[in-house]
Parts: sequence; C-alpha cells; structure tokens
Amino acid sequence: MRILYASSEVFPFAKTGGLADVGGSLPSALERLGHEVKVIMPRYSVIPGDRWEFIKVKDFTLRHGKKEHSLTLWKSRLPGVSVEFLFVSTPLFFNHNGLYSEKGKDHPDNLEGFSLFCRAMLEAPKLLNWKPDILHANDWQTGLVFAYLKTLLRGDPFYRKTGTLFTIHNMAYQGLFPGSNFPKLDLPRNTFSPDILEFYGQINFLKGGLVFADILNTVSPTYSREILTPEFGHGLEGVLQKRRNDLFGIINGADYQEWDPARDSFLPSGYTAGSLEGKSVCKKTLQRRCRFSEKDVPLIGIISRLTAQKGTDLVLDILDELMCLDIQLVILGVGEPDLQEKLRAKAGRYRDRLSVHLTFDEAFAHRVEAGADLFLMPSRYEPCGLNQIYSLRYGTIPVVRKTGGLADTVIDATPSNILSGKATGFMFETASPLSLLTSLRLALCLYKDPLLWKKLVQTAMEADFSWDHSAREYVKLYELALKKVLPRLTV
Ligand code: ADP
Repeated sequence: MRILYASSEVFPFAKTGGLADVGGSLPSALERLGHEVKVIMPRYSVIPGDRWEFIKVKDFTLRHGKKEHSLTLWKSRLPGVSVEFLFVSTPLFFNHNGLYSEKGKDHPDNLEGFSLFCRAMLEAPKLLNWKPDILHANDWQTGLVFAYLKTLLRGDPFYRKTGTLFTIHNMAYQGLFPGSNFPKLDLPRNTFSPDILEFYGQINFLKGGLVFADILNTVSPTYSREILTPEFGHGLEGVLQKRRNDLFGIINGADYQEWDPARDSFLPSGYTAGSLEGKSVCKKTLQRRCRFSEKDVPLIGIISRLTAQKGTDLVLDILDELMCLDIQLVILGVGEPDLQEKLRAKAGRYRDRLSVHLTFDEAFAHRVEAGADLFLMPSRYEPCGLNQIYSLRYGTIPVVRKTGGLADTVIDATPSNILSGKATGFMFETASPLSLLTSLRLALCLYKDPLLWKKLVQTAMEADFSWDHSAREYVKLYELALKKVLPRLTV
C-alpha cells in the first residue's frame, strides 16, 4: 500500500510529545512490512536547517482563505530510514518559537497555518504524481484534511480510491477557534453545524477527523472505550458514540532503536536484563548530575508535560510527605506556569533530595529513564503514554494510575502477579494524593527486597512493545478503510 502519513510533529525533526515519537517510528515499521510511506509535516522555522539536508521539490501556490499563498514542498531523508519525509513551508506561517504556543499562549495564526497545511497535504501527492491508497492523519492539526477531501475534493479522480484513517492521540486538544473565522477555511457554509464542525459556536478541527474520516482509532484499547464517556470524551463523546463501530484502539509501540539501554548513546554505560551493572553506573551519574549523595536509596524519576492531565498537582500534594522518606526525586518537564513555579519553590527547599529541570531535554530524558529506580506517572487520563513503556525497557519500575494506555501496558504488582512472575509495575485506581502515596509506599517497601526487585526489573525489561505488532494492527485498519471506499466507487 502507498500511505501518506500526516502529522504536525515527527521525531527527530520537531517534538513536543508522544505524537512525534509515533510519527518517527510507525512509518518505518510499516515500511518493514512492505508498504511505501511518505510522511508530511510543516517545515517550522525552529527545525534546524543545517542538521538535515532539505531538497526543494517544488514551489506552488494555493488559494486559501480568500488569499493566494506561496508554498514550497521539500523532502528529506534520515540515515538508515527508507521513509521519505515531506515538508511544507510558507513565508506567513510556522515561524514561531514553539510549534503551537509560546509561554503558554497559543499562536494567533494556528487556524490559518494548520488549515493551509491540510490543503497542502492534499496538493503534495499531486505534485509528486504519487496516488496514496491511504491517507492517515493525526490529531486536531490535521483534522480538517478529511473535511477538505470530502467536500472541496469530492469526486476528484486523484483521490477516488483513497481510504482514510484518523488517529486521536489526545481528546483534550481539539483545535478550537472562534466561529467568526469560519469563512477563512473555504469550507461549505453547511459544514459549520453542530453535527459537523461546530462545537458550541466554535470551530472544532478535531471534529473534521471524527466526522469525515473513514476509520478512527486512538492509541490504546482502554482509551478507545474511555472516550465514549463524558469523563474522557471532552464533550465529543456523543460524536464518538455515533461512530463507535468505526472506532478502534491500537497501543503505541516504542522505538527500540532510540530507546534501548543496551545501545543508548546518551548513557554513561549500557545494560541489559541479564547484566544490570550498567544501570548502577547510570544511577550514580544521575545522582551526581542532580547533586544528590551517591547512596543506595530509591531514586524516582518523572518526565512529563507539567499539567493536570499528567497529575503534576497530585505529585505536588504529596511532595512534603515524600520528602520525609529516604528517597531522591528528579523531575524533568515543562508545562503550566503555576505548576512550574510551585515545583521550583519545592526544589529550593529540598535541594539534597529533589532536583527539578524545567526544560525540554531529550538526552537528559534518556539519562533519567536509565538512572532512576522508579518512574512516576499519576496521569488523570493517558491515551497511551510512552514514558512508562520506555521505563519498562530501562528496568525503571513504573508507578502509574490505572487509566488508558497505562492500564494496558503495566502489570500491577499484586501478590498473585508477583508470585506468577508477571508483575512489571504498580498501579492505583483513584486520582487522589492518598492513592498515589499508598501505591508509592508499597513500591518502596518492595524495593527493600533486592531479589524480588530484581525479578520485577527483569520482567519489566523483557516486556515487548515493539512496533511490529501494532503496525500490523494499523494495516488491518487501512484495509477496513479501503473497504469503505468500495461502495463510494460504485455510486
Ligand atoms: P504526551 O502526552 O506528552 O505525548 P507521552 O508519554 O505519550 O506523553 O510522550 C511524551 C514524550 O515526550 C516522551 O518521549 C518523553 O520522553 C518526552 N518528553 C516529555 N517531556 C519532556 C522533557 N521535558 N524533556 C524531554 N523529553 C520529554
């Protein structure tokens, strides 16, 4: 199959979270299965121009929002990767410091920039004369592409046989804009209605995907069920209910080329499940970096966007009690300004046990994954979550809330799971400080038993979340999408 994979962020070119990790690894896994994939994303000015070679494919123009836009299509390759990466640049958009926001404020031109990107996404294959069998787009930034395909390009012979899949990585981010902007989108007036793109008077980009894509999926089976409820559906549970027969859940894979403690170039020493000495070296190096004493106490790591979704406030709630225990805690993250501020204040108070790094640092993320003993992820909701999957591979035992992808990837250390040698982490049900603290205390108790802990670490490291299985699941969804095309061809 020929697959056009569209995402607003793709590792290593641009990343704010797990969306980029998936864009950087699923396409390669699909190519390994024999499919041909082209990835398309915006060429943001923050993507360093000298780190990769960008070859100009073509300059082109698009009339969008009553204006003529000049755009350029670029291509690039990564060493050892057969996938072709396409980029769209335009002088007016994608020229900010962050991808979508800066200092907590959304860019004022997100609507114009990402809707134009959606139009360009449909133009690029034509410029290349490369007809995709499948258009697979991700999250709100690409949601409108399905609306354009099914309205402005309806009946276009180029896309007559193209099946479409929309992947939701997070229901909370919907791309909402004031309804008065609707004329800028060049979409038929009747699509601005509550059963299509309108959401209580606003334009909702995510709905473009939810309503118009042939097949929908989200990034774990549990989250695909959760989003049908008001608690997790963020107001769109009704739309999803209508499409529940077309909605699936596929757990994200991990890119073990990037995340493998045996060959991770960011680490001072590699290690495997069979030889864990290197993990102690990583721990000591991390302790030194955090200015902690190098004693053998449980070292807990957190790498996260600092938001209520990730339960950062729950961590803050238990922090004083946690600091009374003989532990060390390192936090790497950026996020909501008030949470950052509170963490900064706590770090000042507990210098010898708490190290807070309010920055985005890929290399340090790898060092925390390897050097910590436990990884804390008390998310209120978690579509899939990748850090707990990386933690498993790094033998860094995850303590997680039982929700979404966390529930699907971690096996709780219940007495029976411990006895049968299946346990890989600790899980708690309620998003409350007390539940979190109780689960963490249990983990710290088990840490004191070196044999038991080693077994936990080794079982965790052997858990396999490589892309091969999940990529095959995606191919099944592409086949379903193509089945939906057939009746369209006969009318
Ligand atoms: P999200 O909801 O943020 O996408 P995921 O767990 O799916 O959560 O993915 C987060 C990804 O972003 C992981 O690769 C993680 O290591 C990375 N990440 C998050 N915050 C930081 C940070 N401050 N520095 C480096 N990497 C980070």
